[in-house]
Amino acid sequence: MNDPRPLPTPRADDADVASRVASTVRADVRSLSAYPVPKTDGCIQLHANENPYPLPAPVRRAVAAAVARVPVHRYPDGAGDVVKAALAAALPLPEGAGLVLGNGSDELIQLLTTVVARPGASVLAPEPTFVMYRIYAKQAGIPYVAVPLRPDFTVDEDAMLAAIARERPALVWLASPNNPTGYRMPVASIERILAAAPGVVVVDEAYADFGDHSLLPRVLEFANLVLLRTLSKVGLAGVRLGYAVAHPAWIAELDKVRSPYNVNALTQAVVPVVLASAGLLAEQVAAIRAERSRLAEALAARAGVTVFPSEANFLLVRVPDADAWAAHLRARRILVKNLNGSHRALEQCLRITVGTPEENGALLAALGSLP
Ligand SMILES: *Cc1c(COP(=O)(O)O)cnc(C)c1O
Repeated sequence: MNDPRPLPTPRADDADVASRVASTVRADVRSLSAYPVPKTDGCIQLHANENPYPLPAPVRRAVAAAVARVPVHRYPDGAGDVVKAALAAALPLPEGAGLVLGNGSDELIQLLTTVVARPGASVLAPEPTFVMYRIYAKQAGIPYVAVPLRPDFTVDEDAMLAAIARERPALVWLASPNNPTGYRMPVASIERILAAAPGVVVVDEAYADFGDHSLLPRVLEFANLVLLRTLSKVGLAGVRLGYAVAHPAWIAELDKVRSPYNVNALTQAVVPVVLASAGLLAEQVAAIRAERSRLAEALAARAGVTVFPSEANFLLVRVPDADAWAAHLRARRILVKNLNGSHRALEQCLRITVGTPEENGALLAALGSLP
């Protein structure tokens, strides 16, 4: 029998390793911290903008059967053609639009940053917005220009146009509906930014399913528009599938910088099965939208609480003491995103994902016992 205890193996001196890391890895990378992902065991999870509904049993069985057939000893299809066909069947994709898949839309945000990151290039975004735009710009070593939102979290179009004229950014990020504010930009405003921008404008529609408008059917009308979408917020966060839609010439450049098998075979097997029951996801989205109104009303009825209008699957709320609220909820095993301290404009703000009626009920009941 082998002794199950690991043998003491030779090990390099910790101080020697630390000094080699310090002299080798970029200083700006060493000064970063890894993105914090809280442990969620046994908690009501209203912090990550996921769909609260699991897949129903029949769809789970179909997913299991599809996964069982995957030849995992082979590399996946590099282009993900089966997934692209399923997306084309489920979405109002214009004929001739290009499509590229990502390991979540996070990966595509990184790739979009990579393809524009030449010396002298900058990226620009209204702020506060999705934090990964800034993080990937920093990683690519290019400037990130933030244009403040108005105090009510609407986009200041004049300030955006002035900043675009001044900075000539290679890339403009517009999350619409925006995270963490829930605000969807008026289409006319996006069109004026597209017309003014010298480079590419990426409209990140991660939450479009929960809102009242998408540019998807019109994507080919604009020479410098890339649309970014994801299945994460509508029920497949664990599967990791994002996609970009644009004129094929933009997509061709993104295809050159992605790793060859960036979407794994299990994801490629699962997505078509779930999209085939697209009616199911639409039902869940409708339930979340109805709950969003109910939750917004209940929260707004509390003294000192402002609920900002949202076309996403979450609500941004300003409360009298965000740290106290988050701690009170955490003690009752309810997770929300505390944004206090993350950005000047988000003082005393929480971002609360819309859960199931039961979860939202638990949240409201817990708030009832706030001192
Ligand atoms: C959640 C989110 C994403 C990233 O989603 P993935 O899970 O990586 O597909 C992208 N943009 C915005 C605005 C988001 O909120």
